[in-house]
Amino acid sequence: MSENLQFDVIVIGGGIAGLVAANQAVDRNLKTLVLEKGESTSYPCNTRFAGGTYHACLRDVMTEPKVLAKLMVESSSGFISPLHAQVIALNASRVVHWLESIGMQFVQVSNAEHHRWAMAPQGRTQPGLSWKGLAGDVLLQTLAERFTQQGGQMIQGAKARSLISHEGACVGVHALLNKEGHSVQASYRSKGVFIADGGFQSNLDLLKKYITPKPQDLKQRGGATGFGDGLTMALELGAQTIGMSSFYGHTLSLDAMHIERLWPYPYLDSLVTAGVVVNANGKRFVDEGRGGVYVANQIAHLDEPLSTSVIFDDAIWNKAGKQGLIPANPHVPHEGGTVHQASSIEELAKVSAMDVGVLQETLCQYNESVQRNDFENTVSPSRSHSKHRPQAILQAPYYSIPMCVGITYTMGGLAVTPNSQVIHQNGAPIKGLYALGASSGGFEGGPEVTYVGGLIKGGVNAMVSIEHFHASLI
Ligand SMILES: Cc1cc2nc3c(=O)[nH]c(=O)nc-3n(C[C@H](O)[C@H](O)[C@H](O)COP(=O)(O)OP(=O)(O)OC[C@H]3O[C@@H](n4cnc5c(N)ncnc54)[C@H](O)[C@@H]3O)c2cc1C
Repeated sequence: MSENLQFDVIVIGGGIAGLVAANQAVDRNLKTLVLEKGESTSYPCNTRFAGGTYHACLRDVMTEPKVLAKLMVESSSGFISPLHAQVIALNASRVVHWLESIGMQFVQVSNAEHHRWAMAPQGRTQPGLSWKGLAGDVLLQTLAERFTQQGGQMIQGAKARSLISHEGACVGVHALLNKEGHSVQASYRSKGVFIADGGFQSNLDLLKKYITPKPQDLKQRGGATGFGDGLTMALELGAQTIGMSSFYGHTLSLDAMHIERLWPYPYLDSLVTAGVVVNANGKRFVDEGRGGVYVANQIAHLDEPLSTSVIFDDAIWNKAGKQGLIPANPHVPHEGGTVHQASSIEELAKVSAMDVGVLQETLCQYNESVQRNDFENTVSPSRSHSKHRPQAILQAPYYSIPMCVGITYTMGGLAVTPNSQVIHQNGAPIKGLYALGASSGGFEGGPEVTYVGGLIKGGVNAMVSIEHFHASLI
């Protein structure tokens, strides 16, 4: 059996990017189909598991757009183009206001600027994964219900497999449907196809190609539904990619590889940026001051991503260790995560199976650099200090926590115009093809692994792309 139907818009993926786009499309009377491979009512995806904070580059989304755009360009050392930054900055507040207008409620979850707009009911209140009836779950229910009430069609258990092209334009999608246990091929035609399948973080081959020599050593810190299908399909049509080596993720306890309550929270970033990150021998190899997401990326690029630890002292454990919504102190040890503790550095090296001399030398150099306030010449690699102030590691007991990297979503992906049209290798947009949310590249990442925000990126891409597509029809 096969199906062959005509739509104005086909959306691949039912996360925030796909369902905001689908709602925006039906609001413009466009005949719209969403293909979502998840079969259950509460199909897993990153949006459903999201903590739910809308921020732009960790700033309040209501910040003056000029300020936001400048921050994105500068903090990414120019990787995010001024036009891509501007589109996020100008539309960030619109996304939140539109979500409010369809019934989403927001709460402020801490005094931190990036925590002012979090979806209610608040997610992220305990270690481990909790999502049922919370933030992202409510968002997806709200969007899916509204979409179908407005006349949109959503097929679940529908896996997009390839794009249909005609004279250089994308004109539809071939999909595999699961109908009562039987696989059915279906082809759907449309004027526009919107790829919103959530990145490639769960595809081990693509991870190996672009991010890490040992993909199985990264902990999936999300829905584990992003296999880069949209990316692969668009590449077959000649699409370009951008920024493929960066991802959004965090440092986690190594025990998160086997203890459920240790992912996606608590993460270790506040210890990492206050303390020292070392390899299996006890030697520093990364600039901790560039932030937890940056450090997670550098660890993933190592030959042995499961070989690192964070080292800190009692002062850090009792201050930085208690920062964040679900802090490492006390949650890591409470949930069964390893925390080595010792009264001297020598003893710490021994219990952590590190080289005593190497760890002593690492900390000696590091403490000296703090004392001299010189983070370029005394330590190697140098330690940035503008965002996260380095602290001497002097106060016993001393601690080490073995780490792994949790990958949440890939920041790179299909190269797109600011309004999310997929760009061909010849430099021109591919007619009728858009990439949104974690499927798009160029809005986040780059040399500093700049984190702009997955929710705001998906929401903005969705709104702007449908507006662009709709205008192109008139
Ligand atoms: C624990 C956690 C906390 C987070 N907290 C925040 C936060 O506070 N703030 C923030 O900004 N971001 C946060 N994020 C990131 C954010 O959730 C994501 O960046 C965002 O939700 C991605 O949306 P998306 O629509 O691009 O992808 P997704 O939500 O992953 O949706 C993609 C959908 O596509 C479907 N799909 C995949 N392949 C196919 C195919 N071939 N055919 C059909 N369907 C397909 C998948 O099943 C999935 O449903 C968090 C993520 C996690 C996991």
